[in-house]
Amino acid sequence: MFNYSIKDACLNNKTILVTGAGAGIGRTAALNYAKLGATVILLGKTVSKLETVYDEIIALDLAQPAIIPLDLKGATKQNYIDMASTIISQFGHLDGALLNASTLGELSPFTQINEQMFTDVMNVNVNAQFLLAQALIPALLLAPKSSLVFTSSGVGNQGRAYWGAYSVSKFATEGLMQVIADEYDTSVIRTNAINPGATDTNMRACAFPAEDKAEIATTEDIMPLYVYLMADDSVEVNGQTLKAQ
Ligand code: NDP
Repeated sequence: MFNYSIKDACLNNKTILVTGAGAGIGRTAALNYAKLGATVILLGKTVSKLETVYDEIIALDLAQPAIIPLDLKGATKQNYIDMASTIISQFGHLDGALLNASTLGELSPFTQINEQMFTDVMNVNVNAQFLLAQALIPALLLAPKSSLVFTSSGVGNQGRAYWGAYSVSKFATEGLMQVIADEYDTSVIRTNAINPGATDTNMRACAFPAEDKAEIATTEDIMPLYVYLMADDSVEVNGQTLKAQ
């Protein structure tokens, strides 16, 4: 695992947005950020899942979170602009954004990739990340030193047979991250990507249905890197794709 020892209260007074916060890695990251002192903004598609995470955070007597229901597949530029305005009016600024939500699409031989599926994967995994980042950067610039984190994959810099749409989308994600990282100094925003590695979630089970879950990392196991990139210890880290394990 990424070698970082998490310090108590290291995210105190930070406001952090997590996309895909209702399930999988995003859910665990949101809960950990809240436990470490952050106010979390939970963005995702299924409201009931976000409400469950909200309730868990409230039950632990942590800072009250906010919920933003948004389907990244159909959202428009105006939706993202409105979301960012709401964040600024409610919280004043954003200290961190974990762009975690994405979709796997279908794995298939390249010549059989369904055009609509390819477009849907690109919409969620690339276009929505672009629009999210564009809308959120003004809120991130209002914080003293903020952290923008994209989510890549092992197929985000090395193509793999049958992983067409998803793999291409993760290459684009790393491109987005590198372009933004090169435009800003770390004194304002640092931009990086996480490659979580094989982690026990619904997405992983869809991709590898026969895998023994006991053999792969849990979402809790990979949290050191997720916390590190939001904590002040990473203020000088920029333009990197880091492996969580
Ligand atoms: P899950 O499928 O378990 O969770 C994905 C989350 O994203 C869910 O909360 C889901 O919401 C949300 N989401 C999906 N589509 C949309 C959408 N259109 N609009 C809004 N939210 C959406 O995936 P993981 O936790 O495994 O993956 C998290 C990230 O890590 C992804 O970017 C993935 O590519 C990456 N990753 C994961 C690996 C793994 O082994 N698990 C390995 C490498 C990379 P809802 O539940 O409401 O649909």
